[in-house]
Amino acid sequence: MLQVAIVGSGPSGVYTAQSLLQQDRVPEVRIDVLDRLPCPYGLVRYGVAPDHEKIKSLQNNLRTVLADDRVRFLGGLDVGSGPLATERLRELYDAVVYCVGAATDRRLGIPGEELAGSYSATEFVSWYSAHPDTSENGFLSGARSAVVIGVGNVAVDVARILARGADELRVTDMPQSALDVLARSQVRDIHMVGRRGPSQAKFSTKELRELGSLPDAEVVVDLAELALDPAWADPASLPGANRRNLEVLRGWADPAPQEPGAARGPTRRTGRTRRIHLRFFLRPVEIVGAAGRVTAVRFERTAPDDQGQVRGTGQYEDLDAQLVLRSVGYRGLPLEGLPFDAARGTVPHQAGRVLRDGVVSPGEYVAGWIKRGPTGVIGTNRPCAKETVNSLLEDAPGLVRQERGEDPLRVLRAAGLRPVEWSGWQAIERAEAELGAGQGRGSVKIPDWDGLLQAARGTDDRP
Ligand code: NAP
Repeated sequence: MLQVAIVGSGPSGVYTAQSLLQQDRVPEVRIDVLDRLPCPYGLVRYGVAPDHEKIKSLQNNLRTVLADDRVRFLGGLDVGSGPLATERLRELYDAVVYCVGAATDRRLGIPGEELAGSYSATEFVSWYSAHPDTSENGFLSGARSAVVIGVGNVAVDVARILARGADELRVTDMPQSALDVLARSQVRDIHMVGRRGPSQAKFSTKELRELGSLPDAEVVVDLAELALDPAWADPASLPGANRRNLEVLRGWADPAPQEPGAARGPTRRTGRTRRIHLRFFLRPVEIVGAAGRVTAVRFERTAPDDQGQVRGTGQYEDLDAQLVLRSVGYRGLPLEGLPFDAARGTVPHQAGRVLRDGVVSPGEYVAGWIKRGPTGVIGTNRPCAKETVNSLLEDAPGLVRQERGEDPLRVLRAAGLRPVEWSGWQAIERAEAELGAGQGRGSVKIPDWDGLLQAARGTDDRP
């Protein structure tokens, strides 16, 4: 029997478990999936925007894997030290796969990042996703204009949530406290700003296009600014996704009249409450404040060079903002006891095998963002996990122990740990359904540690 611990129950962890269950090279596999949180699914629960119900429904696929008899979900376990030190896990299991993602945000490194009103997009996402580590609730206080720095899919998510009315979000599982804050929102202008051109933006076309279909927001673009992009006039040589992005932007810059005599130009949808301004060729140089609070973001206008990058022009533009969301990508954090490449924010590996000082460390593996960096969509984790599992299975003959020790779960319990098991998670799901029913809504997330643990432990009184 091959006994594997997977650390992290986000998509990469669950796809790793799935690959292990589906293979037929090792006849018997037992998998423990450990997570710091009492809830599984990682960024599918705490990152995918609540109004993206189709992507969120991926949880149903992930659930099938975690509910398999050969898998145990063990939530509320913070791996890295004590009884959960990496070397201890290595003793307890034949193999350990770290799927811990990229837990923090990248910094801009410009003055003013610490001002009140300046947040990372990940903080904002965690808030509306009810992540139990988030206590901030004042994101929107006094904000009429918001600047989102970056033009990736996370930037689109946070801009869209800001542009939606609370009524539109009531049907989601967003916690009531966040909905109440959004219902009082005075944010009218949302500026989403890229330092390079529209043909280099990282958002996907589907996500971009969705901004144009929000019921109470209009998209504003500036044709002259878009046309600064060398690819604007002739996008033929661009990769398909970038070319399609330009087509969507072109539609907004110069929309075809709906009917003879209808007004042309992006202002045709006026009358809506909010505006999403898509801006390009602006590099943030300072977050400007007064009395400790954000008042604006200063950008230097950039111009394309011939390497696909940009250079500064020495011209500056300030955008008024009382809320700044820095959405410039995630970043992996080191896990105590695991090697870490600080420059890349990943664990050094060879086809998923962890490398310690350049040498394969037997029985230790990585998959997902901590392996390849914070790129790609959820599905990208499937082939990534498969590669790691292939390496693990190749190594399996040398990993499986002849003499099986005590069940790792008993050992962890004996060390005083009290994991939230699958039954505990199911109890949380029931409690969230009840919470929502009490508010006349569908399932609503419990946003705090106490509430989650209380719900989980209600059915599990083991010491
Ligand atoms: P991302 O796709 O890497 O985008 C980061 C953005 O920040 C880019 O526009 C980048 O511009 C910009 N940026 C980086 N450093 C900057 C700086 N110093 N100043 C100004 N701008 C800077 O990251 P993300 O949006 O956090 O997304 C992470 C991953 O999750 C992506 O793979 C994304 O597709 C995925 N995701 C997918 C969905 C979905 O499928 N619906 C939703 C959310 C996230 P440059 O290009 O110039 O570097």
